[in-house]
Amino acid sequence: MSAELNTVKKALAAANLAEVEVIEKQGALVLEGQVKNWQQYLEAGYAAAGQDFRGVVNDLEVEGLENFKQQCESSPEDFSLERYSFDVVVIGGGVIGCAIARELTRYNVKVALLEKESDLARHTSGRNNGMIHSTMAVKLGTKKYLYNLRGNRMYRKVAEELGFDLKWPGSFAMLDKNWQLLLGPYARRIASKKGVQGFRVLSKGKVKELEPNAWEEQTGSFYMPETGVVDPYQVTIAYAENAMQNGTTIYLNTKVLGFEKDNNRITAVRTNRGTLQAGVIINAAGIWADHVAEMAGDRFYTIHPRKGVIAILDKKTGSSQSYILGRAQLSSEAKTKGGGLVPLLDGNILAGPTADEVPGREDYSTETHELQHILDHHLVLNKTLQQSDIITYFAGTRACTFEEDFIIEISEYVENLVHAAGIQSPGLASAPAIAVDVRDMAAEILKNKMDLKENPDFNPKRKLAPQPVRLSLKERNCLIENRPSYGQIVCRCELVSEGEIVDAIHAPLPARTLDAVKRRARAGMGRCQGGFCTPAVINILARETGRQVTEICKHEPGSVLITDRTRRKGCEQSAH
Ligand SMILES: Cc1cc2nc3c(=O)[nH]c(=O)nc-3n(C[C@H](O)[C@H](O)[C@H](O)COP(=O)(O)OP(=O)(O)OC[C@H]3O[C@@H](n4cnc5c(N)ncnc54)[C@H](O)[C@@H]3O)c2cc1C
Repeated sequence: MSAELNTVKKALAAANLAEVEVIEKQGALVLEGQVKNWQQYLEAGYAAAGQDFRGVVNDLEVEGLENFKQQCESSPEDFSLERYSFDVVVIGGGVIGCAIARELTRYNVKVALLEKESDLARHTSGRNNGMIHSTMAVKLGTKKYLYNLRGNRMYRKVAEELGFDLKWPGSFAMLDKNWQLLLGPYARRIASKKGVQGFRVLSKGKVKELEPNAWEEQTGSFYMPETGVVDPYQVTIAYAENAMQNGTTIYLNTKVLGFEKDNNRITAVRTNRGTLQAGVIINAAGIWADHVAEMAGDRFYTIHPRKGVIAILDKKTGSSQSYILGRAQLSSEAKTKGGGLVPLLDGNILAGPTADEVPGREDYSTETHELQHILDHHLVLNKTLQQSDIITYFAGTRACTFEEDFIIEISEYVENLVHAAGIQSPGLASAPAIAVDVRDMAAEILKNKMDLKENPDFNPKRKLAPQPVRLSLKERNCLIENRPSYGQIVCRCELVSEGEIVDAIHAPLPARTLDAVKRRARAGMGRCQGGFCTPAVINILARETGRQVTEICKHEPGSVLITDRTRRKGCEQSAH
């Protein structure tokens, strides 16, 4: 047994897990055997991490948890994509996959993006805090740190090109003990090492002056002015639309089921809609990236989900806070950046997230203890906030590896596979930089197979439909005169017009479900959560897509909202 394997064995024994088998496969450390519970499964994974291996594959069985390794159900089969051919196939329609697809269109390559769901950003990319983090809370020397730093600095340009909103409220990492202010000089040194521009240590009084409603118990704060906020769903859609405008084809409801290979090279991607030929494959499958890696024959990491629950607060709270408020994380080993209160672009505040290790990769349940944590830990950071300000909750799962770092590299064992995996937080903040590097890795592989050139028609600017909220009153009146549907308000909470809903339905990547309209146009996002506008949006969707209202779904095939009419013509007549 090698010295490294011995070290891992000792670490496992120290964690009372001596019975766990440890072997090396393709340079990765593989754990086998059985443990009693999820906690032990995680402990074994972490005990094995940090050695000189490519990664940790945790194949342990867990008593009483038979199904946790299975991927979710496949969609029905058809062969509509059979033998289509692409230079690059990107797997995953989250922010990472969409940003990569867009970057790839800078070259003369044919790109397809495959997403198993009926819309983009249905998983982690649509279920996060939307923060463009500063690097203050990220460990130096990790890929997370390097990509966060570069990504943060790229966001202004990307937002300008792709036409999504971005603001830089800056963040407070508040302290709660007077002695912690003594850490100021040390924190300044760390901030300077980490490239955090404009970092300051604020006294209690200064925090009060800048943010009068801040937490009563704060004793001062670290201030990171270069922390931004975006709408993560809008960022994903913006990348995807620009990718499409530059030639990418996006296939929704298309799940990758396996690969065809010729020795160490993937030749085709098997999906529920047929088999596509592919030159280079990008694995950006988020929480399922290790399954994709396994199907490709290069599994050297296991993803384990860390669930985060977030509360959305009423818009009326927005005026009570200007900065992002959180608690200082003084341990560099912490597994989350702590979360807090994030004032959003549209006036709402987000509270959270929590951080709980769970076996379910798409477990979006919200439990009482998580909600209580949000109240006790996050809501108190702004003294004006109350539980009744919460309009709804949602959950997302972070795609964590046991090494707690991103995996962005060309596969060592499959010559035309690139991994963009383990992209937990700050993946959104890092996305622009990750996309550039993965594009370059794909180009490196493609150069050997084709005459790779720049795409002379690449247009970095996304073409946008009219944005009434960005117009002056005069401009808006003019728009309404030309298209009266922009004057017809459908969602009263968010003041969304019929024109904007119609634009979302006819966008390059058309919104076809109620949730897709909600996320693109904000209809249904407000205090009443669609109670008022849902029937109207269903009718507009049916009219614009030539379908019956009974065919309109909430989010995925089969999630119909209306099953039948309650009154038929004959009944209506007899009722009169
Ligand atoms: C609660 C929470 C808060 C967060 N807050 C922040 C934050 O404030 N700032 C920040 O920078 N980061 C944050 N993050 C992290 C950030 O959300 C992620 O890093 C980022 O969204 C990851 O994007 P992705 O594209 O890799 O994954 P995803 O968005 O999950 O996309 C992967 C896609 O692949 C698809 N897929 C999987 N398997 C297949 C298959 N076989 N075939 C086809 N498609 C497949 C999935 O359906 C999915 O749509 C947060 C995460 C959570 C959970």
